[in-house]
Amino acid sequence: MLNETYRGMLAHKSVIRETFMYGKQRAAQIGYENVFDYSLGNPSVPCPERFTAAMQELLAQEDPVVLHGYCPSQGDPEFRTAVAAHLNRTFGLPYAQKDIFPTTGAAGAIAHAVRAVTRPGDEVLTFAPYFPEYGPYVEGTGAHLRVVPPQAPAFQPNLEAFEQMLTEKVTCVLINTPNNPTGVVYSADTLTRLAEILTEKSRAYGHNIFLVSDEPYRDIAFDGRAVPYPAAFYPHTLTCFSFSKSLSLPGERLGYVAVRPGCEGEEVLVDMMAQISRFTGHNCPPSIIQRAVSRCLDVTSDLSVYETNMDLLYNKLKALGFEVERPGGTFYLFPKALEEDANAFCRRAREFDLLLVPSDTFGVTGYVRLAYCIDTEQVKRSLPALEKLAAAYQ
Ligand code: PLP
Repeated sequence: MLNETYRGMLAHKSVIRETFMYGKQRAAQIGYENVFDYSLGNPSVPCPERFTAAMQELLAQEDPVVLHGYCPSQGDPEFRTAVAAHLNRTFGLPYAQKDIFPTTGAAGAIAHAVRAVTRPGDEVLTFAPYFPEYGPYVEGTGAHLRVVPPQAPAFQPNLEAFEQMLTEKVTCVLINTPNNPTGVVYSADTLTRLAEILTEKSRAYGHNIFLVSDEPYRDIAFDGRAVPYPAAFYPHTLTCFSFSKSLSLPGERLGYVAVRPGCEGEEVLVDMMAQISRFTGHNCPPSIIQRAVSRCLDVTSDLSVYETNMDLLYNKLKALGFEVERPGGTFYLFPKALEEDANAFCRRAREFDLLLVPSDTFGVTGYVRLAYCIDTEQVKRSLPALEKLAAAYQ
C-alpha cells in the first residue's frame, strides 16, 4: 500500500522548479543569452579556492580509513569546535563544541531544530512571506505551521498580528533573516520587540517559547551593513545556518544548528537532535565536507556580484515605477506585480522571456520574486525585457 500523504504531494508541483525547467527548454530553442531566468536560488559564483585546496589536502594527506569512516552521531568534533570558535569571534557569545550540531544544509538544521522543541499538535508560527519548505519541515514533526500575515511594503515582521496569534499552543517561532523571498534584513528594533513579546508570553504561559532562526543568507549583506544576529537578542534560540550560499556549496549539503548558550535544554539539545536523526535516517553530513569546511570558516565565496546585480535591477524597477523594497541582503528582490494576479503577471513576463516566480508560493498574493544569482551581463541584457513588460501595462 503506498502512503497517500506523499503520493498526494506529487500533485503539487513546485512552481519554482517548473519555471526553471521551462527556462532550460526555452534556452535550447532561442539561446541562453535570450532567456532571463530569475527563478531559482542556486548560487552563481564558485566556492572559494581555499575549500578546493582543503579537499585536496585532506584526500592527499589523511588516512583514507579515518577520513571516510563513520563520524560520531553528534558530528565531526573538529567541525563543531571550529564553528563554535567562529561564532564566538563573530558574535561574542560563548558557544562551545557541545552547542553545535552539523546537518545537511539549513533544511536538515530546521527539520531537526523544530522537532526538538515541539510535540505533535503544537503550533509553530512563521511570518509571511516565507520559504515554502517550512510546510513539510514543520508538518513532518506533527506540529502545525501557522502564518502571520505580511506587512507590506517594508516586510519587517508584523509584530502586532504576531502577538495576537501567539497563543499557549505555540512552542516555537520560525524566522528567516535575511529573508527569502523579500531580501529584507530584520532590524535590531524588530528583533528587540520580538524578544520582548516572546519573553512576556513565555512568562505568561509558564513555558519558554523557542526561536528557530533560519540564516542561510547571513553572509550576503549589502551596503556594508552587518545583519543583526537574532540569538544575541533572545536566549532560547536555535540558529540554523548553511554553507550552501556563503561558500556556494548547495550540493554538498552542510549546515548546522547552533544552540545559544543559556538556552533551555542547552545540555541535551544536541544529543536529542542526534536521536532525531535516527528517526529520519539523516545521520551526519559527509565527514570530508565537515573537515574541509572547518578550514574555511573565515572566508566566503566572492559574493559581491549579488549586490551588483541587485543595484542594477532595483534601480531599473524603481525607474519603471514598481513598488519594491531595497533588499538588505540575499539574492532576491520582491516587487509588487503590475496586476493583482501575480500568476497572470508572470505569464505576461514570459512573453518577454523573463522568468519570475509568483508570490503565492511564499504565502502572499500580488508580488513576484526575482532570484538574481545569475551573470551580471545576463542581468544587463534583461533590462530591456523589463522595460517592455512595464510598457505592456501602460
Ligand atoms: N531556508 C531558506 C530561507 C532557503 O532559501 C533555503 C534554500 O534556498 C533553505 C532554508 C535550505 O537551505 P539548504 O540548501 O542549505 O538546505
